[in-house]
Amino acid sequence: MRTQPPSYDCLVIGGGIHGTYIARELTQRDSGTRIGIVDPNPRLLDSFRTKARACGMTALRSSFVNHLGGEPFQLEHFAGGEDREDELVPTVDYPERPTLSLFLDHAEHVIERSGLSEKHIQATVKCIQPRQDGGFTVETTDDDLQAATCVLAIGHGGRYTYPEWTTTLPADAPVSHVWEDEKNGILPETDAGSDDDATDEHATDDHTIVVGGGITGVQLACALATDHLVTLLTRHPLTWETAEADPPWLNWSHIESELHCHPPGSAERLSVVDDARYDASVPPALYEPLREHIDEGRLEIEQGTVESATTTDDDSNADDPPLSITLERGRTLHAERAVLATGFENIFDHPFVDQLETDLGLARGADGMPLLGDETLAWEYADGSESRLFVTGALARGTVGPYAPNIPGARRASERICEAITRLVTPQSTAPTSVSVQQ
Ligand SMILES: Cc1cc2nc3c(=O)[nH]c(=O)nc-3n(C[C@H](O)[C@H](O)[C@H](O)COP(=O)(O)OP(=O)(O)OC[C@H]3O[C@@H](n4cnc5c(N)ncnc54)[C@H](O)[C@@H]3O)c2cc1C
Repeated sequence: MRTQPPSYDCLVIGGGIHGTYIARELTQRDSGTRIGIVDPNPRLLDSFRTKARACGMTALRSSFVNHLGGEPFQLEHFAGGEDREDELVPTVDYPERPTLSLFLDHAEHVIERSGLSEKHIQATVKCIQPRQDGGFTVETTDDDLQAATCVLAIGHGGRYTYPEWTTTLPADAPVSHVWEDEKNGILPETDAGSDDDATDEHATDDHTIVVGGGITGVQLACALATDHLVTLLTRHPLTWETAEADPPWLNWSHIESELHCHPPGSAERLSVVDDARYDASVPPALYEPLREHIDEGRLEIEQGTVESATTTDDDSNADDPPLSITLERGRTLHAERAVLATGFENIFDHPFVDQLETDLGLARGADGMPLLGDETLAWEYADGSESRLFVTGALARGTVGPYAPNIPGARRASERICEAITRLVTPQSTAPTSVSVQQ
């Protein structure tokens, strides 16, 4: 006899920074709320953990008040209690930043204290179907689940950007994306994300080209330069910015006055966000390490746009490096390999997002952006009513603004989403719900 599928008050889809933050907040508000977090990775936060390590990140870009706990100073107190204050990295004209290991250890502490690992369902959501009562049947690679509400926290959706010139290369060309194989990245396990002093014990004259002049490219180039000769290939001069956007964008009142003044889903909203974000910028804290590797002759910066790339053919000298990259102005770079630090594809046109729109009858705006309620972050149905599917992260940038994909964005989104979910799933609630059932 088939048993009833498990039923939840809220299913969080994605167990990265945003999904874990929201699940923690919901649990803290009411420990009786039945929450599940669906994520295919073995552990919560694996997606962030492996990406950070793969690009050699040693400290966060954001300050110590940005973490997975509820109180802003919680991570600082955790560092004090563990005698790890030296892992709060002093930063010029900016609050201290936690090392990656301190940030992740504190996150583990929060996950453990909130019992979130027990709520983790290791699976991928394949699709979501509407129910008559406004809730959802969530089909996963493991089982079908029932949920009164869902939170979509899928980050950038795991699709990485491959420049056009890579598409003509053979499949075995030594060109990979830094996050393509996150668990077996190019950096040795001990170097990746550790705070150990670099040694040149394993240094070789292998030449690696890192493609991309944003924070990921610069971090990766610095981490690799301890073991390899590195060329950092960037299309634009490096631009130095401490954070991803100016501080006023951390405040909801600023978001309301500067972003919500434009209609939801409008192209104007996207253009405000794009203008405000310092995409492809590098925090000044990376200037010194970059300078040192350049001075030591292990790293050079090449500015240019790739015209074509080829791999060595059989007739070539066996000593020739296997990869040649020719720039538009004629110079050719030869290397053992290239690693792409070229970011993510746009989440707005992700096939999973398209499928949600079709299956649930949801509304989208410019460039495929989901149409969300400004106060609740509930994805609206095509008739303008609010669904019980809430959205956070990069997918919510038309409503949360330039910090939407980042840790402060998780806090801003969570405040609104958790308030709305609590109203919907708390039995004694008298608040009106604007939920309609779509079939
Ligand atoms: C290397 C790096 C360093 C960063 N440093 C900072 C920083 O210092 N400060 C800051 O504020 N921001 C930083 N960011 C930006 C941002 O905080 C991170 O990208 C963060 O991981 C975003 O969290 P997220 O939960 O939205 O996405 P992710 O962490 O990517 O999590 C999304 C999760 O959803 C899962 N998922 C996707 N589709 C499905 C599905 N269909 N079913 C089930 N699960 C699914 C994925 O497997 C993944 O685990 C950094 C980003 C990177 C890549």
